[in-house]
Amino acid sequence: MAQLSDRISNMATSQTLAMAAKARELKAQGKDIISLSLGEPDFNTPDFIKDAAIQAINDNYNSYTPVNGYLELREAICRKFKRDNTIEYTPEQIVISTGAKQSIANIAMVLLNPGDEVLLPAPYWVSYSAIAGLAEATCKELPTSIESDFKITPEQLEEAIGPKTKMIFFNSPNNPSGSKYTKEEYLALAQVLKKHPNVYILSDEIYEHINYEGENFSIAAIDELYDRTITVNGVAKAFAMTGWRIGYIGAPEWIAKACTKFQGQITSGANCIAQRATITALDAPVSNIQYMVDEFKERRDLMLDLMSKISGFKTNTPKGAFYIFPDISYYFGKTIKGKTINNATDFSMFLLEEANIAAVTGEAFGAPNCIRFSYAASKEQLKEAMRRIAELLN
Ligand code: GLU
Repeated sequence: MAQLSDRISNMATSQTLAMAAKARELKAQGKDIISLSLGEPDFNTPDFIKDAAIQAINDNYNSYTPVNGYLELREAICRKFKRDNTIEYTPEQIVISTGAKQSIANIAMVLLNPGDEVLLPAPYWVSYSAIAGLAEATCKELPTSIESDFKITPEQLEEAIGPKTKMIFFNSPNNPSGSKYTKEEYLALAQVLKKHPNVYILSDEIYEHINYEGENFSIAAIDELYDRTITVNGVAKAFAMTGWRIGYIGAPEWIAKACTKFQGQITSGANCIAQRATITALDAPVSNIQYMVDEFKERRDLMLDLMSKISGFKTNTPKGAFYIFPDISYYFGKTIKGKTINNATDFSMFLLEEANIAAVTGEAFGAPNCIRFSYAASKEQLKEAMRRIAELLN
């Protein structure tokens, strides 16, 4: 009898994608579902990027690209890192992959050994723990709460680092909390990391441009940490290019080389047309995409306002990304409409069944008191969703 490997059997399903699939399925059955589950811009890819892709097709870009990506794109990424993040990389330090998700998987595969420990400040994006698990590493969660704006402290970090700690994952602005580390906060955390030279830092900056308050700061810009930091980014969120699947890293050259070696056996490299279009996207002034950020900010403010009127919802103020992550533990142990809510997963199923609203349980993000709503949806949809929830709960 066919038997799946332990590797896949033990791996958790992506809850973001599972909830999106469930919402799609219910919609197809004719239910009036509002899906606030998947984090993906509801804008179209800007025309200037689409034009570049069409041009690339007509220019006959159809062959395999270099495994680590076109040199012209790696050069454009170096310019981007310098312009937006004040980090100096050479094209040899850049690897382009099929989405930032693959970039993260590459890093896990080339740096982690079985038994190594990965620190995950919680809440964290659902796939980090699954990816680290595939590399047979163990994850140690560093819990936070609304009170600390979902951010870890230097003391917490110091206490968490042990002899097996190989890596820590940072994600700022954060999915799912929208929290952002300031430069000062990162510098304070860096004081701890400097004492532990064997700990590598993965900095996932995929939401850097979806930023509402203050500058974005990249941890690789701290000189003493540059040699052991991998900066991950991509075009999906900022340029409304989720389906184009282009992510990239800037990393020490030996790590970039290892990722290229790994990728050479797995995918041969990322899609050629999407890579050409990405050159145009990254070389354009960031102001070209500001209209999307402005709209997301208005929606954030709308969500904060509407959620403040729902009893039992406690929120922080997201500084970036397009998620809001209320603490809904007030409802645990309560029975509403004959349904008992014992945890965040029960609560998300309750919203789906009773209000036709799809959201993602905080348990998937290592924050069992919370639930994630993506506000990458129209204001009308957001208003209607919050109206239904208020009607159900107030
Ligand atoms: N990153 C997005 C999310 O968290 C897209 C889905 C995924 O890859 O998890 O919703």
